Order: sequence, then structure tokens, then C-alpha cells
Amino acid sequence: MALIVQKYGGTSVGSVERIQAVAKKIKAFSEKGDQLVVSVSAMSGETNRLTEIAQEIQDVPSLREMDVLLTTGEQVTISLLSMALQQLGCDAISYTGSQVRITTDSAHGKARIKSIDDHRIHASLGAGKVVVVAGFQGVDEEGHITTLGRGGSDTTAVALAAALKADECQIYTDVDGVYTTDPRIEPNARKMNTVSYEEMLEMASLGSKVLQIRSVEFASKYKVPLRVLSSLIDNPTGTLITSEENIMEKAIISGIAHNKDEAKLSLIGVPDKPGIAFKILKPISEANIEVDMIVQSVSAREGLTNFAFTVHRNDFSKAEEILQKVCKGLDAKAVQSDDNVVKVSLVGIGMRSHAGIATQMFEILHEENVNIQMISTSEIKISVVIDAKYLELAVRSLHAAFELDKE
Ligand code: ADP
Ligand code: ASP
Ligand code: MG
Repeated sequence: MALIVQKYGGTSVGSVERIQAVAKKIKAFSEKGDQLVVSVSAMSGETNRLTEIAQEIQDVPSLREMDVLLTTGEQVTISLLSMALQQLGCDAISYTGSQVRITTDSAHGKARIKSIDDHRIHASLGAGKVVVVAGFQGVDEEGHITTLGRGGSDTTAVALAAALKADECQIYTDVDGVYTTDPRIEPNARKMNTVSYEEMLEMASLGSKVLQIRSVEFASKYKVPLRVLSSLIDNPTGTLITSEENIMEKAIISGIAHNKDEAKLSLIGVPDKPGIAFKILKPISEANIEVDMIVQSVSAREGLTNFAFTVHRNDFSKAEEILQKVCKGLDAKAVQSDDNVVKVSLVGIGMRSHAGIATQMFEILHEENVNIQMISTSEIKISVVIDAKYLELAVRSLHAAFELDKE
């Protein structure tokens, strides 16, 4: 008898019919004799809807109250799914994060799971029930309700699988696996059969929102076999995310990720002296704003330099305001801001042993006349920041040139 943790995302439980279809799928698994723990998201659109209501009441709602509000979305779907299962004659019980006792730290809106008490879940499994657990939520040491950040139900599922030492964690969503790139951007994207934790972590970090970053971190740390599958069509293999040593064919490039959430800020004509980077970025980090890419250009003339960096678009106006002050304080010439940029990245473990991939990437973008504004590289990825209007063109031409549509 296997113990399987399954997660169904927002689209998969987005209507009564979908919930009933998911219940049927779960019942079939349970009839095969597997023990099942199922984690679900809120119905699609619900988390956004609740966020908008909150903003009608308060411009900047308290993070604690936001967590109390947003966790209701998942409380709705766990109860409805349990009812749908019971209606099919499949014994099921729902638990919220705090009922299980998924303990997190107290960082409201982006809490991290610290521990999971498995007593209740094991007792219910032992009584022959399917256990349905609310995704995306937990409770801190003081009993305050917390959430794990957008897309956090993936992390709930993987953390449950790790805590229960499940045989597999299955993430059911609206695509039938992890593709070489977002199939919404490139219809020729190809489903991968396997991908390493490390590559998936890069893909997720660079904007492929098919899995929350932390869920992949968890899976990699606790070696949880993680599979992405479709809840809508029957394809039992999906994509397996696993350790590098389990992967036979190692592609040089496995995927292309993109991130539309970035914005670029530049300080033009800053006196080129020691301490510049520190003086510009200190107030930014003090405001709790995370910086992604950084480029400082070589002194052009008169000992002046330009300093550019990217931040999350949500932090754009706050960062711009801070930079205006820094500009005055450092006697720089001007602030330039651009929230019309995207980041496009090539990811692949094979890059470690292959030189020249970056040059090839730049050549392809040059042929398409796409100007590169920023570049950053690591062992297994190359990222460029470009004008947002070239997103599709860049992704599709790179996908074709690196032949990612072919096995
Ligand atoms: P869920 O609501 O089930 O959590 P998400 O919308 O969070 O689903 O994630 C699934 C979506 O991720 C897909 O519809 C797809 O557009 C997007 N996506 C982005 N990059 C990829 C990729 N490389 N492979 C598959 N899907 C991707
Ligand atoms: N409902 C939450 C969100 O929309 C969590 C999740 O779906 O994973 O982000
Ligand atoms: Mg998701």
C-alpha cells in the first residue's frame, strides 16, 4: 500500500463540476488501495477576489488580517471536496492548516513551515479516510493564522509528503507536466518526462510559476519524488522532478523561463567613488525591497558611472521614490525607471560542461533585433532583461534555435 500526497490547484477545483471530477479521480485512487492525503487551493480567482475586497476597505491592510481572510478560500474547497467524496461513498475528512497543526514562523503573507504534526492525519488514514488538508496555510507558535505566499499550496503538499514520508507527491494542475517553456507563450513547448530538482528550482526562481519555489526547495532537501500532472486529462506520467543522478538524458538546455514581474531602475551620472553600490542599495534593502539583477557600467567620462538594478514590480514605485532621494544625496544626474521590461532565462545543467551557450543566445537575440539591457549568469542559467514587447519573440526564437521542441 502506497501513501500518496496529491495537490489540486485553483483551476482544478474552480467549480462544482471540477470539484466533483476531482472527487471521482481521488475515489479511483483510493479504491486501488493507496492511502491518500489531498491538499487543495482555493477556487481559481478566489484569492485575488478576497485581496480586492480587502483593498476596498483599507489601502494597506494588516498582514495578519489578510492571512485570516485569505485562508478562508482554502477552507471552502476542503469542505466541498470532502462532501463530494462522501457523496460518492468515499470516506473523507477535512482539516485546516491549524487543525493539522502545520506550524510556521510568524512572517505573515510569506511564512515558512517549521514542522507538521502528523498525528491527526495518521489517525484519520488509519480509520480508512481520505484526508483533505487546506493548502497555503499554517499557524505560528502563538496560534496566529499564517499564509505561505502566492502559490503556497504546492509547498503545503510537498511539506506534507516529506513529513509523512509519502511515496510520491503529485501536483495536479491545468497542464500535464513541466514544459520546456510556458505553453501559453510558445505552443511548440514540449513536455519533459523528467527534470532535476536543481533545474526546476532555477526555472521556478526565474518565473516559471508552475511550482512555487519553496515547494521545489523542500522536495530537493527531503528528496521527495515530485510529479506534475494534469487534473483535466488522463496522463499518468506527467513530469517527474527528481535528483540529477536519476536522469538519463541530460540536455544542455532544458527550459526557458520568463518573469514579467520585474522593473528596472537606473541612477544616471553617479560620481564613481568607493561605496556607491552600498549607498544606493542600503536604503532599498532597509525598505525591505529585494534586488534581483545589478549592473554598474564602467566610468564613461568625468568619473561618472551609471548604476542599474531590478526589483519586483510591486516594489517599483516605493523603490523609485527612495532612488529619487538617493539621487539628490549623491549628486547624481537623474533617475530612469522602466517597468516595461521582462527577464528571459535559459536553464540547463548541461551548461556546466558546454561553453558558448551565452554567445549563442546573444546571437539569436541580435538576429531578431532584440536589445539586451542587462545580463546575469550562473553555472546553469543565463538571464537577460529586455523590453516587454519582445517577450514572445525572444522566447519563441530561442526555443526554436536551441531545438527545445525536439527530444
Ligand atoms: P495551479 O492553479 O494548479 O496551481 P498555476 O497557474 O499556478 O496552476 O500553474 C500552472 C500554469 O503554469 C500553467 O497553466 C502554465 O501556463 C504555467 N507555466 C509556466 N511555465 C511553465 C512550464 N515551464 N511548464 C508548464 N507550465 C508552465
Ligand atoms: N490560493 C493561493 C493562491 O492563489 C495558494 C495557491 O493557490 O497555491 O496563491
Ligand atoms: Mg500554482
